[in-house]
Amino acid sequence: RKTDNQMLVIFGASGDLTARKLVPAIFDLFIAGQLPENYIVLGASRSNLTDGEFRKRVIEESPFLKKKIAKVSEEKVKEFSNTFFYEDLGEDYDTSYDRLQKRILDLDNKFGTGENIIYYLSTPPTLYEAIAKNLADQDLNNQTNGWKRLIVEKPFGYSLETAKELNKGLQTYFAESQIYRIDHYLGKETVQNLLITRFSNSIFEPLWNRNYIHHVEITNAESVGVGKRGGYYDKSGALRDMFQNHLLQIVSLVVMEPPISDKPDDIRNEKVKALKSLRIMRDEQVLYDNTIRAQYIASTINGKKVKGYREEEGVDPNSTTETYAAIKFFVDNWRWQDVPFYVRTAKCMPTKVTEVVIYFKSPHHQLFQSSDMSSKANKLIIRIQPDEGILVKIGVKVPGQGFKVERANMDFYYSSLEETTVMDAYERLLLDAMQGDATLYARADEVEAAWEFVDPILDYWKNGKDVRMYGYSAGVWGPQNADNLIEGIGMWRNPEAK
Ligand code: NAP
Repeated sequence: RKTDNQMLVIFGASGDLTARKLVPAIFDLFIAGQLPENYIVLGASRSNLTDGEFRKRVIEESPFLKKKIAKVSEEKVKEFSNTFFYEDLGEDYDTSYDRLQKRILDLDNKFGTGENIIYYLSTPPTLYEAIAKNLADQDLNNQTNGWKRLIVEKPFGYSLETAKELNKGLQTYFAESQIYRIDHYLGKETVQNLLITRFSNSIFEPLWNRNYIHHVEITNAESVGVGKRGGYYDKSGALRDMFQNHLLQIVSLVVMEPPISDKPDDIRNEKVKALKSLRIMRDEQVLYDNTIRAQYIASTINGKKVKGYREEEGVDPNSTTETYAAIKFFVDNWRWQDVPFYVRTAKCMPTKVTEVVIYFKSPHHQLFQSSDMSSKANKLIIRIQPDEGILVKIGVKVPGQGFKVERANMDFYYSSLEETTVMDAYERLLLDAMQGDATLYARADEVEAAWEFVDPILDYWKNGKDVRMYGYSAGVWGPQNADNLIEGIGMWRNPEAK
């Protein structure tokens, strides 16, 4: 695909995300020769920095680029660094956006970026709409000469209502086709591999329905607590921070019908339909029975003390923000009727892992004796991180007399592809936006459909009667009550098991 000459304007250029994710991603694209001939980056935020100071901060002296820089020549780093510029926005918007506009036009003229611009909003989310408006006021959204795109970071809204307001606000100044809502999970190779697994193989899709699938389980676990992000996290929680966006995006890829083509909107149309099929839980008893929330409590792992969530810096000592969420739900459509989905996300778990497990139904008639009765069924495990790969558990004969069945793995790991480096999610997504491919970005209606499902759970957790908050020790797989969600099987898969 062709990448036009262009400029990237980053709002919030002095912040963490810019240094930690964006600049390293641009550097990787540069080294891989993926940037167009004329490409520059203009950072903007209120901090008072010169071009030189900005380059030092995010490139030359950046801890996030140190290893990457060490692998290339000094000239190469200089060449890269020289394409970075900075504009101090100050506190006074009236004058600062005048200055910004002049700077953009000057740089565009000088470097021949064809008035093609991506604006990357990496600021506090409260500023997204104001920045879009300021850009429009300066006519910087005008696509007469060159295209203009707006990348928006998460969180995308705090509830259905605020997400709708934000969509409406942004769409006042930019067309929906110009807005790219980033969800970095969609940039992960294995998440995209879900589509390939389903729609490029004839052995899975015929089984991908209620007739053959018993249930679906998705686990997203962090091994660490909230660390220094307590202040931010306490206003968010597991459901908003992970489930509403990343995990429901994964759910939509598992659930969706085959798209009519691989065009961005054909794929996104199917994802929206999938999200709209999730059975919204409104009844208090249903919410009580199908949602579990919990917080990690003070504990000791391997002789090391771990603070409880409520003792973390920036967290309210009476906080009711969940660091663990497990939700059971159903999908009301032809394909998925009555198949339970179990999704959990949490901090302070035994390991860091994200995986999707498809449990197939057991054969109707058990002819042979299984050595492990608890795992009679076939499982398809899609490992999103770490050890990205895919694994099928099948029954094989135990060597020797008789017909005993044991589970064996058929697996594929991306790490086994020598010479192939898996692109970082931000690198992949930035390149897509540079080329105008929005397939892996969330559309307004997708975001709203996800909030439709999540809002009643959040409301119940905040205002419902008899809502429990469980505690769990750091380093265990969450509260025991979460196992009760899974009737008939009794337990989640242990992602550490091979
Ligand atoms: P951060 O470190 O607090 O950075 C925020 C940036 O916004 C700073 O550079 C700040 O710089 C700038 N800013 C504040 N007011 C501004 C204004 N009026 N105009 C322009 N810039 C302004 O936050 P972050 O971690 O980089 O996160 C940025 C965004 O990405 C947030 O929406 C966050 O939710 C999202 N996000 C971050 C991560 C991550 O890993 N960090 C992951 C996912 C999503 P000045 O003070 O110099 O203006």
